[in-house]
Amino acid sequence: MNPVPFLDLRGQYKKLKDEIRPVVDEVLDSQICIGGPQLTNFEKEVRDHTQSMHAVGCSNGSDALLLALKALDIGPGDEVIAPSFTFFATAGAIRLAGAKPVFAEIDEETFNIDVTKLEALITDKTKAIIPVDLFGQAANMTVVNEIAKKHGLKVIEDSAQAIGAEHKERRVGSMADITTFSFYPTKNLGACGEGGLITMNDEALATKVTQLRNHGQSGVYEHAYIGMNGRLPSLQAAILRIKLKHLDDWTAVRNAHATQYRGLLGDVEGLVLPKLAAETTRHVYNQFVVRVPNRDNVRKALSEQGIGSGVYYPLPLHLQPCFADLGYKKGDLPLSEKACSEVLALPCYPELQSAQVEQVAAALRTLVEKGA
Ligand SMILES: *Cc1c(COP(=O)(O)O)cnc(C)c1O
Repeated sequence: MNPVPFLDLRGQYKKLKDEIRPVVDEVLDSQICIGGPQLTNFEKEVRDHTQSMHAVGCSNGSDALLLALKALDIGPGDEVIAPSFTFFATAGAIRLAGAKPVFAEIDEETFNIDVTKLEALITDKTKAIIPVDLFGQAANMTVVNEIAKKHGLKVIEDSAQAIGAEHKERRVGSMADITTFSFYPTKNLGACGEGGLITMNDEALATKVTQLRNHGQSGVYEHAYIGMNGRLPSLQAAILRIKLKHLDDWTAVRNAHATQYRGLLGDVEGLVLPKLAAETTRHVYNQFVVRVPNRDNVRKALSEQGIGSGVYYPLPLHLQPCFADLGYKKGDLPLSEKACSEVLALPCYPELQSAQVEQVAAALRTLVEKGA
């Protein structure tokens, strides 16, 4: 059996090389390394793709969250609600802004924030909610927005994993006060290096975010805010523009893989396949995540057969050492903790072949059925 890597970025580049090399030369010849037409065109194209009013490129998805919090004046003394079962940056940014993360439980079926438990976490210090579109499926933005509106809170949607996803036929990027994206190489739209982007519908907010990403500069060496160096390099924008043209095709292939896995694994006892929320009209499957008993044994056995897999995430954020001062303990968010011990991400990238999906599914079935 040939090995099945968990991801194959070299394979993706090989197919795009002839398209990418000329624009790299173009940027290098122009020596417009920051800003310029590559950046503004990329921002326009993402704005259209996400059906939002304004898009501002920035340094990475983590800085995008920090810029969003700063743009909304969230800082010391404020509380921000975010799920515990997500990538670290979601809560790291809250802390870096000087505010306090308040961790929310997830919905067991979708892995996204459980909106039925959200209101209980709101205090008079709460300023914002950060739902995460985990694994490429939009959070329940309808209900998050309703709750936020009722309590006068802002919504920052962490869409690092979900560019192109749809909730009730609306694209992520168009629904929250601010939406943040990441172009880390393993995301569905990946740079050759770091990159991120922020979308919003409010023009004044877009101006503020644009200034904040450039040290709060409002005029020539005049600084309206204390911002940061949070810019997106032109070379990354140029490469991302090429990849954006392929994104919808890639998303279709990811969905085909997901459908194939569902068909092949739907009847395996003990294996839980990822569920689509009723409101999800387009999942983009940054990850295809199953739940398996004896996850670590299964993962090791797959690896021995040359099959790559991933664990997102092994430890919930409320139990991270750096957040010990917040006073959370084991058992506080049982569904988040349970997910951490059961989740296994299977290969699901556009370059993966249908025969490889079959190979992964067959190996996984055998392991789960014999109780690895
Ligand atoms: C990747 C990711 C980020 C951070 O993006 P970077 O570009 O790596 O800084 C934030 N939130 C989530 C949910 C992510 O998956």
